[in-house]
Amino acid sequence: MTLLVTDPMDGFHYTSFAQEIIFAPGALAQLSEAVGRFGWRRMLLCTSHSMQSNGYVNSIKSSLGGVLVDVFDHVQPHVQDVQVKEVFTLAAENNVDAVIGMGGGSPIGMAKAVGFQLHFPIIAIPTTYAGSEMTPVYGITHTDENPPRKVTVNDPKIAPTLVIYDPQLTLDLPPELTASTGVNALAHCIEALYSKTRNPLSTAAATDGARHIHSALLTCYQDGKNLDARTEILLGAHLAGLSLASVSMGLHHGLCHVLGGSANIPHGIANGIILPRAIRFNAEATAPQLLPAAEAMNIPENGINSKRVIEALAHHIHELIGQMNLPQRLRDVGVSESDIPRLAQIAFQNRTVQNNPKPITDPMQLEQLFRDAW
Ligand code: NAD
Repeated sequence: MTLLVTDPMDGFHYTSFAQEIIFAPGALAQLSEAVGRFGWRRMLLCTSHSMQSNGYVNSIKSSLGGVLVDVFDHVQPHVQDVQVKEVFTLAAENNVDAVIGMGGGSPIGMAKAVGFQLHFPIIAIPTTYAGSEMTPVYGITHTDENPPRKVTVNDPKIAPTLVIYDPQLTLDLPPELTASTGVNALAHCIEALYSKTRNPLSTAAATDGARHIHSALLTCYQDGKNLDARTEILLGAHLAGLSLASVSMGLHHGLCHVLGGSANIPHGIANGIILPRAIRFNAEATAPQLLPAAEAMNIPENGINSKRVIEALAHHIHELIGQMNLPQRLRDVGVSESDIPRLAQIAFQNRTVQNNPKPITDPMQLEQLFRDAW
């Protein structure tokens, strides 16, 4: 199998980000030392309710003491603009100098939105596999539009300065969120591999990320307290986020943003429905680029052509998603058939969709994909 797929002889161009990454079981204990080293003195924590109930907010409070000046503990999914305004005011009133996002992609997205607008550093402590902690991007949902629309903001200053990965914080991530955010991480790897702006680093990270995610995902779904498997998948999620950080995404991510922002489907769930279909849609243009992922996920090549290997990869991912009982059709997550043309129109305008390696020239291509997914 040929693994040299990034065409390095054609040249490449990417931005990497200065971030400090701490990864270890129990790494949360290193937060206070790192905060002292950076010299942050007035910090705000953005998080979600579940982090209160499982005691992680208290762990941060006792580790940071008076340096933690306030906690916003009810971040909603998909970073709503009205909540961003609230947290913005809270940060300004408290004269904050750094903001922590702890939880899934939503609290981390909130910390990014507020930190970026107020020009202070962002610290990310991820407890799902969504990968936002590694990227210079956040999405914000404009709630005054009908339907609401999620817009992404991209700037190198958005990349968190410090990221703490502690697999122990993921031991109580429920099976459905384990599955859906794990599939989200796998999707980063897939779209990084065939990205129009792929580079040697993104390809290496995405290939190894896919290997670790695939090796540990089902075990974590079935046995959430398995620290070894939790550590392996979090490593995979880190690599997935790293690959995502330096490349542009395509059809899959664009459609998931539309389904999240305009149909309010949880991000990971949208990923499970769309990923196998996006792989098939793109296969004619991108199959050779996905061969490393197929190999990393033990899909046999057997001398068959790359398009058929990638069909087997899409089928395998679809089966894995089914084994973890995630919804596999849009009709199962509240989308009605009559919504499809409008969603396809919104998706056609989406910048990320338009950045797909296989050109999308007609909204009907997207309508057909959504109908297939319905
Ligand atoms: P999320 O942050 O919305 O969290 C989903 C749920 O998981 C919440 O109810 C939360 O309380 C719960 N949760 C999180 N960790 C938990 C734990 N350890 N134990 C128990 N419950 C826990 O979901 P997500 O899928 O992590 O993130 C999705 C959001 O992140 C979307 O808005 C997506 O667009 C964004 N995202 C952004 C990027 C980026 O690069 N900017 C990358 C990936 C995802």
